[in-house]
Amino acid sequence: MTIKFCNQCGHHVEYQIPESDNQLRAVCQKCFYVQYENPLIVNACIIEHKGRILLGKRTIEPRKNCWNVPAGFMENGESTQAGAVREVKEEVLADVKNITLFGVYNIIQRSQVHVYFRAELDSPNYGAGAETSEAQLFLPEDIPWDNMAFPVSVTALKRYVEEMKTGNFTIEEKDILIDYEMLRQFDR
Ligand SMILES: [Zn+2]
Repeated sequence: MTIKFCNQCGHHVEYQIPESDNQLRAVCQKCFYVQYENPLIVNACIIEHKGRILLGKRTIEPRKNCWNVPAGFMENGESTQAGAVREVKEEVLADVKNITLFGVYNIIQRSQVHVYFRAELDSPNYGAGAETSEAQLFLPEDIPWDNMAFPVSVTALKRYVEEMKTGNFTIEEKDILIDYEMLRQFDR
């Protein structure tokens, strides 16, 4: 119920169930254009270099000053993989190779789908890019689990670290539950 105005003519909308639909939609009361609201896609990339994982420290909310794998919202006109590669370039100034799908995570409470890739650094060059104060390679045992930004990246990264031991990487599709009570404690 977040849309107030028609993006076609600017007139106000009302939430109604259109004919032959079964959900409330923002319907323009002048031109009757229906604005659909659908999940957003986030692309992310776990990057390995000689047994270490590249993480960036966030300079923006939410979860400012926490570590995360490069990740961000997909842009129009790009593929999921291209989006992940772009986020890597933007946030940790790195180029990657051997990019492979690693996981698809549904965050239903936020209406988001996070698509995780895994990749290797193409050259040992990286640094702090956009929205990042620091970029660092971590040995698995040194990953700052208590200071990671989001449960979804922790879920993906923990599996990655486990699968690194054998080199047998799998792909998983999973729902991630947000614990709002836990988030409130973080924010205190
Ligand atoms: Zn309209």
